[in-house]
Amino acid sequence: MLKKIVILVLAFLHTLSGRPNVRIRRSIECDHSKLAIADIGLCVNQQLGFTHHVDERKSYHHRQRRVATKVESQLWSKNNAGYVNIPYKYDTDKQEVQTAFTNAIEVFHKKSCIRFIPKKDTHEDYISLISDYGCYSSVGRQGGRQNISLQSNSACQKTGVAVHEILHALGFYHEMKRNDRDEYVVVDYNNIWENRREQFKVLSSENTTSYGESYDKHSILHYGNYAGAIDLDKMTIKSRSNSSETLGQRDQMTETDITELNKRFECQGY
Ligand SMILES: [Zn+2]
Repeated sequence: MLKKIVILVLAFLHTLSGRPNVRIRRSIECDHSKLAIADIGLCVNQQLGFTHHVDERKSYHHRQRRVATKVESQLWSKNNAGYVNIPYKYDTDKQEVQTAFTNAIEVFHKKSCIRFIPKKDTHEDYISLISDYGCYSSVGRQGGRQNISLQSNSACQKTGVAVHEILHALGFYHEMKRNDRDEYVVVDYNNIWENRREQFKVLSSENTTSYGESYDKHSILHYGNYAGAIDLDKMTIKSRSNSSETLGQRDQMTETDITELNKRFECQGY
């Protein structure tokens, strides 16, 4: 049984609430050169209240097939005091973006043994907060500098989105990448843009783990019902138990999200 995920990169999405009430054509200002390699419907989804991100350039394509959660090198290490210190640096002067990240950091400090610390010269591996096109992150520790992007003046600059991206950097994939997800949701590939279908593929349980936790349709790492939709009136992901159920959210970590986080890093007392 597999649950949330640990490994490389991914995309995400921000669901403000159920169904999008705006219609958009796919041709909006997308940076297609980037989307071609990275992924995704940043453009489309953003307009719909879904912010999609992905940095598949480094991790996804190159590492997904060979790795996993259990790859020690992608874990951030814990010190003797029981904390996982993660150096970070702001490489954007966008105040709203910094605020979203700062608020997200507070969530992790409160709910887990993860501690974000300002990067010093002696720190080799660190997270650089940038404000690029879209919100994205690699999955797991990459070695050296790794970016988390929260686009300014977009749905990206929200605390819940920053939490989502940080969870990727901590090694978690999207919830619907679990290999048991078809027991809980139905994915309509016919309504998903071809260049986004890869994001809906499940990952091998050999490479990932969910720490024994059950599938969480409301995880902050779950896609929304209309993620990647061609026909915006039709859901791409539907709950099996209740077809009108809203999937995913970008407000806060669920209890399951928090449990898996603390299991992954063996945080004591949270
Ligand atoms: Zn994501």
